[in-house]
Amino acid sequence: MGTVVRQTLYAPDDHTADWVSAEVMELLNRLEEQELSWRLETSEICAANKTAGNGEGYLLSSDMTGVIVECMNLSKRAEGAFDITLGPVVRLWNIDGWAAGEQTGAYTMPEPSILRQALESCGYEKLELKPEVLGEKGEILQARIFLPAGMQLDLGAAGKGYALDKLRDSLKESEIGGAVISLGGSVLTYGGKPDGTDWKVGILNPLDTAEYIGILSLKGQWCVSTSGDYERYVEADGARCHHIIDPATGMPADSGVHSVTILTREGLLSDALSTACFVLGAEKGMKLAQEYGAEALFVTFEGEILMTEGMESCFSPAGH
Ligand code: FAD
Ligand code: MG
Repeated sequence: MGTVVRQTLYAPDDHTADWVSAEVMELLNRLEEQELSWRLETSEICAANKTAGNGEGYLLSSDMTGVIVECMNLSKRAEGAFDITLGPVVRLWNIDGWAAGEQTGAYTMPEPSILRQALESCGYEKLELKPEVLGEKGEILQARIFLPAGMQLDLGAAGKGYALDKLRDSLKESEIGGAVISLGGSVLTYGGKPDGTDWKVGILNPLDTAEYIGILSLKGQWCVSTSGDYERYVEADGARCHHIIDPATGMPADSGVHSVTILTREGLLSDALSTACFVLGAEKGMKLAQEYGAEALFVTFEGEILMTEGMESCFSPAGH
């Protein structure tokens, strides 16, 4: 997933810890290879992308149906600020290439006319889901997805959070009593420590990533995701171009915030919401997070820290 995985596991013995830790890595690889990747030919997302414009669509697994339905619901509620159909635009900016070190020397931003053209192929409202299997309450259990020609799905903004949900479910089946697993900007806390103390999750200072702005103290199972303009970027003509795109313009979002941290029980939601709220900015983002019952923390361009009440109750500023 183009990121570093860190695991801390509290197990009854070394053997169990080693075994579960290996299982975690295996599950992550499996999710990337079989479901989430937009690069690996073996994944569902790749298979769905290949059907763009062919009219036949692609029958998603029930897990991926759930992911896409939740992402599309968020797109609607976020006025399109979050959009998994931005693949063509993300490719133009070559965001994956930045991290792979492919970007050496001067970076040239994509041509506005080419960007506009790519944007025309994007847009969650052009994505069609045809339910094929319904649950007892009429909920969609499995759907066929139809992408118009030129559209490409990109789950970069939600895939790691979804993976945390899957890891949590698999930890429940294990003998692990407590765990913290981080996938880049998303962190899962699970269970408890043997000494009963809280989990501590640091929130980086977006202006100086050698420092924390504060620490969250959490009990039990939570997901914490941060989207920031310091995570992945290139310099072009002296300006910083980061990896979170405003679907309205195709340009890096410029909503007055350096970072957004979201705290929820569900990983897919925390990851997707952190991206959506980054694009929306503090005022609209705060409202959206609250509609979802999520806690949120924004670091603004002015260096101000804005938080929901629930976030405040578990946040300790650095140095206190
Ligand atoms: P987030 O804010 O969570 O997401 C930003 C990412 O989402 C962008 O990089 C872009 O892909 C997409 N995006 C941008 N704007 C929006 C928007 N408005 N709405 C919706 N989505 C948006 N990186 C590599 O360098 N190489 C890889 O091979 C690679 N493989 C990956 C495979 C998987 C399955 C996943 C989940 C990620 C992978 N990544 C890879 C990382 C990926 O490219 C993103 O950069 C990363 O997920 C960003 O995470 P974040 O938490 O920093 O940012
Ligand atoms: Mg995200």
